[in-house]
Amino acid sequence: MPTVSPVLPRVGLPELMERFNCDSKCREFLERLRWPSGPVCPKCGKKEIARVVNRESVLRCVECQAQFTVTAGTIFNDSHLPLAKWFIATFLICESKKGISALQMQRILKIGGYKTAWYLCHRIRAAMLESQKAPLTGIVEMDETYIGGVKRGGRGPHASEKEIVIGIRQRGGELRLFHVKNTRATTLAKYIRENVSPDADVIITDDWVGYPRAMMNAGFRGDRHKTINHSGKVYVSGNVHTNTVENAFSLLKRGIAGTWHKISAKHLPAYLEEMEFRFNRRGNDMLFQDTLRHMVSAPVLTFEKLTKEKAA
Ligand SMILES: [Zn+2]
Repeated sequence: MPTVSPVLPRVGLPELMERFNCDSKCREFLERLRWPSGPVCPKCGKKEIARVVNRESVLRCVECQAQFTVTAGTIFNDSHLPLAKWFIATFLICESKKGISALQMQRILKIGGYKTAWYLCHRIRAAMLESQKAPLTGIVEMDETYIGGVKRGGRGPHASEKEIVIGIRQRGGELRLFHVKNTRATTLAKYIRENVSPDADVIITDDWVGYPRAMMNAGFRGDRHKTINHSGKVYVSGNVHTNTVENAFSLLKRGIAGTWHKISAKHLPAYLEEMEFRFNRRGNDMLFQDTLRHMVSAPVLTFEKLTKEKAA
């Protein structure tokens, strides 16, 4: 068994399809991602593992006799789709900056039903999630944007028809996106405390009235909060602007308008995680491999769980 985690260089689609053209090649790669120092029994944790004769995909624990596969109990659980198609689907989601719609996925991969394609996209998306996020530091920009709904317009009474997304981005660093209920000072302060290091130099926002109190509450006083006067049509004043977080918003909006079309408020957080995960790895060779690694470590996402009404 290999003892190092595989590193797959950034390849194009033709090379990917050549490398992973059958179930066993895909499976071997997933096994190395999931168990870099050899398979471990999910039941007893022992490492003496044998392969079941004539059933290549099935592993057997010599100690407790438990039988298991690399995909059981993960995002791939119970899927009838060949692994090679899973790999291509994952590749397409990783390589599409604005995401890819389930309909497009269905057409490209010649998947029988839309529902299967939709479920596939959601399962890959569910793995594009970082459980441990480092606090942002240095110069941090924060802004909100409004998604969906019919009426245009800002933070007034009609804004309730739109979904609100907060973006926080470290200049030259990572992006965080959150679906929020409102832009009150207490809400904003909570996201600052949870995502920005207390040692950050400065947070830059526009002149929305909620920010000054939010910054006070979160410990960013005086010079450590700078505002740009968007309502007075000023967008850049020296180093003070929120352009880098706004760039991320425009990618998100183009993704929603162009590829996902209409997404429900219920699934918006998952789309935001996908966008954030990909955005923070842009130009990073490990994006595809990281996603697959998450897919063999993330828990099962059943269709029932995905489609049930959100619990209050
Ligand atoms: Zn065992």
